[in-house]
Amino acid sequence: MEAIQEKLKVIAPATGEQIGEVPETPVSQVKSFYQKGKTAFMQWSSLTMAERGKYLSKLKEIMVEQMEEIAKTVAADTGKVITEALIADIMPTLDCIDHILKHGEKSLHRQKAKTPLLLIGKKSFVEYMPRGVVLIISPWNYPLQLAMVPMLSALASGNTVILKPSEVTPLVGKCIEELFGQAGFPDGVVQVAHGGKEVGAAFTNGKPDYIFFTGSVRTGKMIQQVAAKELIPTTLELGGKDPMIVFADAHLERAAKGAAWAAFTNSGQVCMSAERLYVENSIYPKFLSLLKNEILSLKQGTDMDSDVGSMTFPAQIEIVKEQLVNALNNGAKLETGLYPEEWKNGMFLPLTVVSNVNHKMKIIQEESFGPLLPIIPFESEEDVIRLANDTVFGLNASVWTKDIDKARRVASQLVSGAVVINDAIISIANHGLPFGGAKHSGIGRYHGDAGLRIFCHEKAIIEDSGRKKTEIHWYPYQDKFPLFIQLFKSYFRTKREWLKFAQTYMRILKKN
Ligand code: NAD
Repeated sequence: MEAIQEKLKVIAPATGEQIGEVPETPVSQVKSFYQKGKTAFMQWSSLTMAERGKYLSKLKEIMVEQMEEIAKTVAADTGKVITEALIADIMPTLDCIDHILKHGEKSLHRQKAKTPLLLIGKKSFVEYMPRGVVLIISPWNYPLQLAMVPMLSALASGNTVILKPSEVTPLVGKCIEELFGQAGFPDGVVQVAHGGKEVGAAFTNGKPDYIFFTGSVRTGKMIQQVAAKELIPTTLELGGKDPMIVFADAHLERAAKGAAWAAFTNSGQVCMSAERLYVENSIYPKFLSLLKNEILSLKQGTDMDSDVGSMTFPAQIEIVKEQLVNALNNGAKLETGLYPEEWKNGMFLPLTVVSNVNHKMKIIQEESFGPLLPIIPFESEEDVIRLANDTVFGLNASVWTKDIDKARRVASQLVSGAVVINDAIISIANHGLPFGGAKHSGIGRYHGDAGLRIFCHEKAIIEDSGRKKTEIHWYPYQDKFPLFIQLFKSYFRTKREWLKFAQTYMRILKKN
């Protein structure tokens, strides 16, 4: 009897309607996925970067052609507004392809390295060798970008890929599978395993050659434990609790508009959204009033002209509610939004600003991942740097001031994977910059040169012409000790002393 295949029901979060079904990948297939990936690796890894680039170009062409359709799928599956599907999921993915096509060859080409004088006559290089089958596990908040960017980077570097997309947004997972299929990637080069955490865990245990994980700190730690047992290298892109710092000399209208966007884009379900807003004391009342006006002007809904969509994952609502209740019970004040008992709009949560909070509260210490923004006044530069760094996270941060020296000074002191000055979040949109977190926000970086090289073994090569019979550092050592003492002392002391000794040393080398 044939086993019944489980299906992931696709419910549109904004409307509650079922909009599809995606068959789950049985965990019994884990082995065959890896075998297929390993077989395909032989051929795929032997292609030149230019040959692999042709597949990427084809994929880009298809995505540009089908841009509206892809945006509709992302919006329906996540509940985000369609404009955000376009600017924050599709655009960065296409830009990543462009970046790889333009810089990939150079990033992965054999690089010449310096050879120290003591190894005179030899040549040094670094080579980048693909690792094998890369497992990519992705989340639901930017389900296209956060799956495809690591996939594209791993593929361009010569690896084959197994993607386990989030079960919360399975239609986007299916869409990605179809896009790679349409682009004609050879069989086994890209495989997509659909399903939830059991499927993710089964593939993590399937001994991939590399794991690239984006998701919660909790899951990241579990994956790291499994990987450690087999010494599998990983990149972990985890949560955030990003500070936004507004100084009195900032452009206040701009900063208020920026705060509303940074806190509420994607309904606040962004690892890099502004989740703590620090405002300098002297402008606090004025800024709060500007921010409230800005928030009042925003439109929530599913229309083309809406600004803020729905939540994506129902379970997330309880987390947001719990943090808000905890803050209110401990004396916090609601500045915008509604009390949790008044929430009536299903997956559309009120855009909530809360004041009178302290650093012990959950709303300050735990990731909210929803439209919840605590606002905190500060006294001095020193004071706000201390507050901003008082967290286990360190993904992104923003500093708002017209004094660029002050902005740079503060940015340099924040323990954070990235800092944006007078804007927020956008560092992820520059593929020339490394992306990743400090502290509990993750391990490793991607994007840029590093984003391709992490998927490769970095191999050091040192070359000798092989014409000499022997080397001075080989056997027999006999009476070489005094010579080496003289050599190293002169070499590591001063240039003058070394130059004095160098001619004698060269003569000895020639004799060897
Ligand atoms: P999650 O950890 O619940 O799930 C992420 C993925 O891991 C999903 O595909 C899930 O099925 C899979 N998974 C769950 N348990 C697993 C297990 N035991 N073994 C293997 N796979 C497993 O995270 P989420 O709720 O989908 O995403 C939200 C989180 O992601 C937030 O904390 C957010 O900050 C973080 N995030 C980080 C970044 C970043 O780049 N740093 C970007 C976006 C989201």
